[in-house]
Amino acid sequence: MNKREFLKRAGVLAAGSVAESLLARAEGARGEGEAMAGSAAGSGGHRKNWAGNLTYSTDNVQTPGTLGKVQQVVKSAKRLRALGARHSFNAIADSRFEQVTLERMAGIALDEKARQVTVEGGVTYSLLAPWLDARGYALHNLASLPGITVAGACATATHGSGLHNGNLATAVAGLELVKADGGLLRVTEVEAGDTFPGVVVGLGAAGVVARTTLNVQPTYQAAQTVYQNLNFDELGRNFDAVFGSGYSVSVFTDWQNHNAMQVWVKKRLDGKSSGAGNSIEWPQELYGATKAGEKLHPITGHPAESCTDQMGIPGPWYDRLPHFRIGQTPSSGQELQTEYLVPFEDGFAAVLAVETLHARITPLVFVTELRTIAPDRLWMSTAYERTSLAIHFTWKPQWDAVRALLPAIEEQLRPFAPRPHWGKLFTLPAKELEARYARLAEFKALLAQLDPSGKFRNEFVRANLYAG
Ligand SMILES: Cc1cc2nc3c(=O)[nH]c(=O)nc-3n(C[C@H](O)[C@H](O)[C@H](O)COP(=O)(O)OP(=O)(O)OC[C@H]3O[C@@H](n4cnc5c(N)ncnc54)[C@H](O)[C@@H]3O)c2cc1C
Repeated sequence: MNKREFLKRAGVLAAGSVAESLLARAEGARGEGEAMAGSAAGSGGHRKNWAGNLTYSTDNVQTPGTLGKVQQVVKSAKRLRALGARHSFNAIADSRFEQVTLERMAGIALDEKARQVTVEGGVTYSLLAPWLDARGYALHNLASLPGITVAGACATATHGSGLHNGNLATAVAGLELVKADGGLLRVTEVEAGDTFPGVVVGLGAAGVVARTTLNVQPTYQAAQTVYQNLNFDELGRNFDAVFGSGYSVSVFTDWQNHNAMQVWVKKRLDGKSSGAGNSIEWPQELYGATKAGEKLHPITGHPAESCTDQMGIPGPWYDRLPHFRIGQTPSSGQELQTEYLVPFEDGFAAVLAVETLHARITPLVFVTELRTIAPDRLWMSTAYERTSLAIHFTWKPQWDAVRALLPAIEEQLRPFAPRPHWGKLFTLPAKELEARYARLAEFKALLAQLDPSGKFRNEFVRANLYAG
């Protein structure tokens, strides 16, 4: 199916020209500040991930511009990995042989009747979110930054926060997947039985996702307010209430003084007038934490310009749910990341267990973020059948020291059966990962069916899923 046919079938709202112009915009969007300075692809023949901590093991990168070309690339490759926006910190997207990026394929088609949007493999949330909003629609949630691809984010179970918000992959209603033999597999949540929950968080191992269909909802406004200095004792006493105090809540700590420096509370303005200014009531205090009087960056001392607006100022969902604005360098820019998901009911005990290592963590960490994720049914999702607390570390770029510390953190978290974020840095052995994923055997059986020769099985997948 060519692009015009695809748009027709997907019920595009305006005609092919929309996708054409989006294609051009998508290429521009990738070039903005979201690609961190110093980690540009292609410099001197070295191709690095966003953080610059990983040089991909091949320079052989295919950039097909049509579905047919993607199918050809996949069919003729001996071994291959899809590459998204290169934001993963580990080698999950790496290949020693060949990579394929769909960055030239950035078509978007809206089906208003079905309340679904279909995006090609190169589409980032930076591109999709304002496009959807302009047409009166929204997604249920976003990650802390928008400059990642829909395909790459869903493949790794990327999440935002919110006790009732599933990760970004839970918005997926259907996928078009190029299988190892170059054939096309269409799966939808209503028709595809067990294949659907198996392939959505596919870790790049099930095939190349050419198109993703997402459920959308009417657009909404949101606002966020930051509270400062939440004592851990108060956090522990009011754990459910703190994380339930907004649609999406993030708690930030540097593990000093038994204290969280900031709590970001994001609320939806459904049904409230956004024109009326600050139409949500924001209490002065949140369990002893006080409302900030100025806009803040989650990392102490970093200027807050790159952050989305705070102080309760309403704005579009896509400019409030992420912490960082479209086109801005998110987070520190020079960093590493690690994240573990534990059952929410064990959340505070897990925080206290990690806190015992504060003297070793604080010198290495820019900041830790605590978030929540609703449970889902996607086999390889880090939130599979568990309401989860995510304990996230934004590390200073000191990998040797961080690597030496991770086993100690994992040891502290072991009683809580942590599941590491698939796109971040961890040292948990494969045996333990195996125990954390009840559907792993079925996932592997599905991979054997879709990719019998292991074309998409890179070192990361082998080491983490097949070495246990
Ligand atoms: C500054 C920063 C902030 C972050 N914030 C968050 C956050 O708030 N929440 C969170 O959960 N994570 C966060 N992450 C992690 C990030 O969301 C994940 O690593 C995500 O997978 C990155 O998407 P990507 O497009 O860069 O994909 P890549 O890193 O390029 O690839 C990730 C995986 O997706 C696969 N893939 C990519 N495209 C396709 C395709 N078309 N078909 C099949 N497989 C594909 C790759 O093979 C690989 O396995 C953050 C990362 C950074 C750098």
